[in-house]
Amino acid sequence: MLTGGLAPPPGGLLSTGALKYARSRVPGTFLVSDRAGTYGSGQRAPTFPYPEDLLQFIWEQQLFDRRDLRATDGRPVEVLRAGRIQHHGGPDLIDARIRIAGQEWAGAVEVHVRAGEWYAHGHQHDPAYDGVVLHVVHQEDRPVRTSAGRLLPTVELGPRIPEERLAAYRRLMSARSWVPCAGELHRTDRHRNTIWLERLAVERLERRSLDIAIHLRELAGDADELLHHLLLRALGLGVNGEAFAQLARRIPWRLLARYRDDDLRLEALLLGQAGLLGDTFQEELPRRWQAEHAHLARLHGLEPMPKATWKFARMRPLNLPTVRLAQYAALVRRSEGSLVRLLNEEGTDRLEQQLKVLPSAYWLDHHVPGRPSVPSPKPLGSQSAQRLIVNALVPAAFALGRSQGREALCERAFGWLEQLPAERNSVLEGWASLGLAAQSAAQGQALLELRARYCTPRRCLSCSIGNQLLGRSL
Ligand code: SF4
Repeated sequence: MLTGGLAPPPGGLLSTGALKYARSRVPGTFLVSDRAGTYGSGQRAPTFPYPEDLLQFIWEQQLFDRRDLRATDGRPVEVLRAGRIQHHGGPDLIDARIRIAGQEWAGAVEVHVRAGEWYAHGHQHDPAYDGVVLHVVHQEDRPVRTSAGRLLPTVELGPRIPEERLAAYRRLMSARSWVPCAGELHRTDRHRNTIWLERLAVERLERRSLDIAIHLRELAGDADELLHHLLLRALGLGVNGEAFAQLARRIPWRLLARYRDDDLRLEALLLGQAGLLGDTFQEELPRRWQAEHAHLARLHGLEPMPKATWKFARMRPLNLPTVRLAQYAALVRRSEGSLVRLLNEEGTDRLEQQLKVLPSAYWLDHHVPGRPSVPSPKPLGSQSAQRLIVNALVPAAFALGRSQGREALCERAFGWLEQLPAERNSVLEGWASLGLAAQSAAQGQALLELRARYCTPRRCLSCSIGNQLLGRSL
């Protein structure tokens, strides 16, 4: 018979003997077990100097000695399904199926280092924990009951956890290397890692699409405005990303789109709003930009940002914000008033072609306004176009696809990531040196996510690679 864990009868199916056993426990004493390797009467088990997460993981993966598993009242316990760790409110693992002394239970499993934490966390008053069918602890220091008064069967893992598992965990948590598992990555399975990276790439898109959905709401659902913000930020290359994002907030897309066929006004708006036209110029064009910007700022009530927001030092000339703004002006010119139409392209080749623009003639021999330089064309090149696709168009398409229920748009966005090569940056070079070289932009994004969201906060228990290392440590 299968007993649903959500509404077990008060008192559960525990035997009278078990209840008696539980009542006979003296506070402050600890479980006495006759299994080999456990502790003597009244002796406190060695402290478990690890987080509860590790215990949950050990239970979920069944990484302990499962032979002759018994509840602390002596009844045999058979794990038909350990349950799944969940991170929302309520018990630690759900969907478990446990057979206790021949009686099958379905429901949740709650894990604690010490059983008494059940009371410390107030679960005895919380009906959300009435569906718990098994209490898994490192050490049972007292019996526990649900809010319905049911005495919970308890399994004590402490004596069953092999030292090798704990040693593997300690290695990961204490390693000082660039990623904690650097020295052990070679022991993991390439195929499983590829699947894990696919999941991480989607996870990164999902995470970013939540932020973008909020951004889109702030922009009253205007997708062109959203792309304007994301493209400008991506042009900033990290160093000036925040400055470009600020600039986007100072020039609405509709204004740029209105002046898209007028080079003079377009560049005057971008450079002027960026606060980059404050100098005294000898050249004719920068002076006309100044006059035009002053006029447009009055007309549209615009406030330029401070010049000091921008960083120019130690930048390659082609990455200077002035050059990037000239390229963006060319992109606006080519847009025909709509950036969203970029999202209609299926292949990245055509998308790249749309983005590879050439700034106006003035920029052939200038990197900054008013200062002539050796003539050199300054197109937005292939690498920059790919960066815009990866960091602006892909997340935007994915987020719009999610918010509009257009699954095909999400798939197109992911397809772009798979078609493009990985970005070049120090994090991906680090992974490559460990034998995990990104084969595509999708894998590149996944590896960035892995390092930032898992390795740095040492979430190895939630990582497929960590699971392999801990699962194999025996
Ligand atoms: S999170 Fe995963 S990849 Fe990162 S250090 Fe831990 S086990 Fe290695």
